[in-house]
Amino acid sequence: MKKLQTTLLVIGGGPAGYVCGIRAAQLGVPTILVEGERLGGTCLNIGCIPSKALIHAAEEFERAKHFANHSPLGIKASAPTIDVAQTVKWKDGIVQRLTGGVGTLLKKHGAQVIEGWATVIDGKTVEVKTGQDVVRIECQHLVIATGSVPSELSFMPFGGDVISSTQALSPRELPKRLVVVGAGYIGLELGMAYRKLGCEVAVVEATQRVLPAYDEELTRPVLAALKKQGVVLHLGCSVQGMAETGKRLRVRSSQADEFSLPADQVLVAVGRKPRTEGFGLEKLQLDMAGRAIKVDDQCRASMRDVWAIGDVSGEPMLAHRGMAQGEMVAEIVAGKRRRFAPASIPAVCFTDPEVVVSGLSPTQAQEAGVEVITGTFPFLANGRAMTLESTDGFVRVVARKDNHLIVGWQAVGRSVSELGAAFSQSLEMGATLEDIGHTIHAHPTLGEAVQESALRALGHALHI
Ligand code: FAD
Ligand code: NAD
Repeated sequence: MKKLQTTLLVIGGGPAGYVCGIRAAQLGVPTILVEGERLGGTCLNIGCIPSKALIHAAEEFERAKHFANHSPLGIKASAPTIDVAQTVKWKDGIVQRLTGGVGTLLKKHGAQVIEGWATVIDGKTVEVKTGQDVVRIECQHLVIATGSVPSELSFMPFGGDVISSTQALSPRELPKRLVVVGAGYIGLELGMAYRKLGCEVAVVEATQRVLPAYDEELTRPVLAALKKQGVVLHLGCSVQGMAETGKRLRVRSSQADEFSLPADQVLVAVGRKPRTEGFGLEKLQLDMAGRAIKVDDQCRASMRDVWAIGDVSGEPMLAHRGMAQGEMVAEIVAGKRRRFAPASIPAVCFTDPEVVVSGLSPTQAQEAGVEVITGTFPFLANGRAMTLESTDGFVRVVARKDNHLIVGWQAVGRSVSELGAAFSQSLEMGATLEDIGHTIHAHPTLGEAVQESALRALGHALHI
């Protein structure tokens, strides 16, 4: 058995783990990162990046179809077709470029990558099976960054026509009829993409709303778009399993009526759970927060010098949160004073229209006992939105009533994901409504709606 010693050992090469590895190595901390599958983790291989690639391809295809039907812009095109195998190949090319880049960055900064599945022996020892060999690694600091896995419905496990997002991101051919279970992030991002690619899509959601994690006003334009696109929604419904005859999904409504939906494939997207099983973690007897490893505001687990970052440390399970945690833990191990106390962790849903939130919604502010004023500016009154044929949606700002300190932003509309940077910067820097209202925003841009929403909260918007 080969033996290695290091200061920092990271299990998992997803965005949390690889950022931790890169930053630690930059700071001169001897670092080993163990990855069982592929560097880049869920995010680069089967999550954020491939899903956004597929969404982009679906949008382009739909645009081409739109031009073939009728275009007020005067563009004429003939009916397009799509070669899905080529789309998947293009997507895989992007994934390969990015995952290869992660390997290069880790190497460049001096972190050692070991390919293989890690098994935890104790809080300072891990064994990795690499081919025929076993490597035993001893470390001072152990970082668990093992991510998460899709939740399964016990009565309808993944396999055959019941697929998770992983299979949905690499279709060999498109199903004629797709039923999506769960109207959350994955269900709606991929459900909309499949619809644009030409599939009949039905969505079964347990609650009475789509994207129930967001406030209702924000999701209204998404609901309208789903209906316009012809996605059939079954809200307040629960799935019962595949019918014995196959190719049909049994569903029960909130009134207990049972019906079935035709389904060549069923995409189950009912959430993800932290990956804490199957690699000896239970030996450490760490305190847990539900299914996640419980951590403090430095991402320390309940055992000394054991850390947990990213999805394995719980919600929100977002790549940028994991990266920020990874960077922080690396800096603490290198001797810097850091704490994980972001003013906000932005979240984006890449539906059409997109949704972006940062900080508190009006309801959340109210629940926190903060008296707020809000300002909403619709894209209907924004010149750039008109030139993009995308006037659905709005930007909303939430600020304290007493001193106008901004505590939250929300937006829905085309390309609003890009406004997330301005939102989070303003929160992190403690901006007031006056700061944003008096900042010159370039014209014509969607960003002018950010300035105008602040002015509107102050009672003197200029363009509405
Ligand atoms: P992961 O990325 O899951 O990486 C964990 C790594 O650890 C994996 O590579 C795994 O192989 C490895 N590993 C696990 N156990 C072991 C072991 N014992 N030994 C060795 N290696 C091990 N988030 C966003 O912010 N924006 C998005 O747009 C977005 N889109 C998404 C779309 C989809 C379809 C999905 C599924 C997720 C999406 N997410 C998105 C969520 C995002 O992918 C995760 O939050 C992020 O990948 C978590 O990073 P992580 O490093 O904690 O874990
Ligand atoms: P989700 O939590 O976003 O949505 C799950 C949905 O399924 C919810 O609306 C829930 O009410 C519903 N549901 C739960 N059980 C059900 C059942 N039995 N029948 C019908 N509906 C049911 O989960 P997801 O879409 O699987 O995504 C998992 C996680 O991945 C997200 O929470 C997020 O952290 C991450 N993600 C992020 C992005 C992004 O940032 N753009 C994109 C995709 C995934």
